[in-house]
Amino acid sequence: TKAFTISDPLASVSAETRAFLGQKHKLFIGGDSVDAADGARRDVVDPATGKVIANVADASPEDVNRAVAAARKAFDGGVWAETKPLERVKLLWRIGELIDKYSEQLAELDTLDEGSPYGVVKNGYIVGAAEHFRYFSGWANKITGDTLPVSLPGDWHVYTTREPVGVVGQILPWNVPFLMIAWKLAPALAAGCTVVVKPAEDTPLSAMLFADICREAGVPEGVVNIVTGDGKIGAALVDHQDIDKIGFTGSTATGQAIVRAASGNLKRVSLELGGKSPVFVFPDADIDGLIPQVAEAVYLNSGQACSAGSRLYIHEDVYDRVIEGVAAYSEGLKLGHGLDPATNMGPIISQKQYERVNGLLETGVKQGASMVAGGDAGMEGYFVRPTLLRDVTPEMTVYKEEIFGPVISAMKLNTRNIDELAREGNNTEYGLAASIWTKDLSLAHKLAAKVRAGTIWLNAHNMIDPSMGWGGFKQSGWGREMGRSAMDIYTEQKTVAMKIG
Ligand code: NAD
Repeated sequence: TKAFTISDPLASVSAETRAFLGQKHKLFIGGDSVDAADGARRDVVDPATGKVIANVADASPEDVNRAVAAARKAFDGGVWAETKPLERVKLLWRIGELIDKYSEQLAELDTLDEGSPYGVVKNGYIVGAAEHFRYFSGWANKITGDTLPVSLPGDWHVYTTREPVGVVGQILPWNVPFLMIAWKLAPALAAGCTVVVKPAEDTPLSAMLFADICREAGVPEGVVNIVTGDGKIGAALVDHQDIDKIGFTGSTATGQAIVRAASGNLKRVSLELGGKSPVFVFPDADIDGLIPQVAEAVYLNSGQACSAGSRLYIHEDVYDRVIEGVAAYSEGLKLGHGLDPATNMGPIISQKQYERVNGLLETGVKQGASMVAGGDAGMEGYFVRPTLLRDVTPEMTVYKEEIFGPVISAMKLNTRNIDELAREGNNTEYGLAASIWTKDLSLAHKLAAKVRAGTIWLNAHNMIDPSMGWGGFKQSGWGREMGRSAMDIYTEQKTVAMKIG
């Protein structure tokens, strides 16, 4: 792996982004940019250099109260829910167009803030965010109820409607900062909810630009509010009695804490949590073609993806061939700053996560896994090389825990028995995703039916579209974001039963 560092990454971004980084970023409440009530501020660090690149307001619980009050006023006052559906369609579409307009800046900000290669951020995540708003713009005037054929005595007209759930607190992770804004806000706004968003403390920058996009698009005051801060601010949202629902993406431990804390007013909760997704490789698949893809199933985003295919099950007939291929692919990837066009893989988000990933790697080797490629990169910034561990067993910590780093745990399969395969794949507390690589349709679909996960890819991994419901079985979460199912988690059903005559 060839190391590459840019001595002054800020010199290679656009003049607009440089100017933006220098601004005094504030909270976005009720359509206004405001300082935190106590004036507190927080530094933002580039994980590829460990250096401070910007500074944002750091909200206090009092600011959460102000933001929730603004969202409540916009919701109860009907500013948004009573906006004609076609107007909401147009507004969400306009946001999509503005994301296109600012795509270069958004991609530069996320690259600097999170570390992934610029090309992946711009062409994958920022384009994806714009498409997400366009997809959900289409839902804003297609939220319908039913008429019900009841058998009550007499004559009846019974129908259901779907109403926005209300004020939503959205708590975001740091791994794909701007795309997460789109995943959370587009369906909530389409449904007629108002929102208070809390970006992750490590990655607030693209959310600051999103505030400007909301203003330019003409989002009514108080419909979108943005508060920056750490877990305490997330917890203040979860505790808040005037919030109707929390949408959360992040760790399973924090998800569990949110469920406990949300019980106060029994607010609705949807959770998109961790994963330890299995990848099954069978000998009849296109082995040469799949090697880079099963490697990228983990290495995308330096392994910081909830759907990372981190447990790689390889059939014994092709085990050595796949191990060698993935090892060679791993060695060929270039680590570096995401703004460097030569970079294939960026850093881990923070010192804390970097230490955690290295600690888990050490434990894996101590417990008997062999490291075929990878390890600590020994570079400035928080870099871990793409790492392949072979001969991993289910007792090992690296098998059980979500590592959230570029680490593949490989195991040998010596069966084609569907029940045995499913038992292996399901041997985890998680159930977010899985992939199956084979040309045998019968095997693929029988195994897909038995693996307990929210999304199963056949001969692909990490391919996500706004129309595909997204979420997990077991401890990978509650509810499904995206697609038609996202409209369920942002609406309440009402039944109206009218006796006629
Ligand atoms: P986290 O779950 O603690 O943080 C995610 C978000 O929740 C952040 O915005 C954070 O400020 C907020 N938060 C933290 N504590 C909170 C609380 N008590 N109440 C409300 N909000 C709270 O994740 P992390 O500590 O940044 O990362 C730790 C691990 O989480 C990672 O190693 C990884 O395994 C997992 N993770 C998973 C995803 C995913 O997409 N599934 C994303 C990020 C992190």
